[in-house]
Amino acid sequence: MIVVDTVNDVRMQRWSDPGMSWGFVPTMGYLHEGHLSLVRRARSENDRVAVSIFVNPMQFAPNEDLATYPQDLNRDISLLEQETVDLVYVPDRKAMYPPGYQTTVTVEQVTKVLEGASRPTHFQGVATIVAKLFNIIQPTRAYFGQKDAQQAVVIRRMVRDLNFNLKLVICPIVREPDGLAMSSRNIRLTADQRKAALVLHHSLLAAQVLIQQGERRANTVRRLMTDILADEPLARVDYVSVANPLTLEEIDTIDNQVLCSLAVFFGNVRLIDNLLIDLSYQGEP
Ligand code: AMP
Repeated sequence: MIVVDTVNDVRMQRWSDPGMSWGFVPTMGYLHEGHLSLVRRARSENDRVAVSIFVNPMQFAPNEDLATYPQDLNRDISLLEQETVDLVYVPDRKAMYPPGYQTTVTVEQVTKVLEGASRPTHFQGVATIVAKLFNIIQPTRAYFGQKDAQQAVVIRRMVRDLNFNLKLVICPIVREPDGLAMSSRNIRLTADQRKAALVLHHSLLAAQVLIQQGERRANTVRRLMTDILADEPLARVDYVSVANPLTLEEIDTIDNQVLCSLAVFFGNVRLIDNLLIDLSYQGEP
C-alpha cells in the first residue's frame, strides 16, 4: 500500500498500468466498519483500490464542527493496510484549495432540501471536492454509502450532468449491533447521548412497520416519527422527512419507493439516518 499526498503521485500510480480497473472510496477519515464495507466492495470489484482521506473545509459552514471533526490518520492507514488497499491519498488542504482558488460545482434542485436546507453551502463543498477527486483519480468505479442518502443523489446527478466516465456504487448502511448507524461523529456522543441516539433507528423502524401495515399517508408517518423523537428529551430534531428517493421532494401519498430520513442533534452532535423502503420489492423469487 502506498500513501501519497500529491496529485502527481496519485497519477503516477493510477496510470502505471492503464489496463487496470480502479475502485475509489472518498472519505473524511476516522474510519469505521461503514467505510470499510465500501472498501471491501471496491476490493472485490476492481484490480486496484484507492481511498482518499480529506476533511474538506468547503463542506463545513463556519458554525459547524470542522475544528472538532475526529481524526486519527495512523489508525486509518493501518486499517486500510489490512484491507489490502493499493493507494491512500491524503491531500494537503492548501494544495486542494491554493490561494486564488475560485471554482465550485453546484447541483441545483436536489441540494435545496433536507441536508441542503439546514446546511446551505454543504453540497457545493461536497460536489466540488468529489469532482476534484474524480478528476485526480479517474476511477473506474466510485463507492458511496446510503448512510448519506442525499449525497448519493447529488453525486449521481453530478456524474450524469458532467459526464464523469465512471460507475457509481451505493452501498447499504452499516449499523452498530444495537441499530445506531455507524458514523465518525458517534465518538463525540456522551454515554447518555449514545443511548438516546437509538431513537433515530427506532423512529425509522416504526415508520417502516406503519408503511408495511398499509399506511399510505406520508403525514401520518412523519407524525409518528416526530412523536417518537419527541419522547427522547436529549434529542433536538432538525428535520423529519418522507420523500421521493429520486427527487427528494416531500410526498403526500406513499407508493412504491419512499425515503424516510431524519437529522437530530444530541448536544452539538448532529446525526443523520434514513431508511429506503421499496414496496414493489417482493423478496427473493
Ligand atoms: P465520510 O467519511 O463520513 O465522508 O463517509 C465516507 C463514505 O462512507 C460516504 O460515502 C458515506 O456515505 C460512507 N459511510 C459513512 N458511514 C457509513 C455507514 N454507517 N454505512 C455505510 N456507509 C457509510
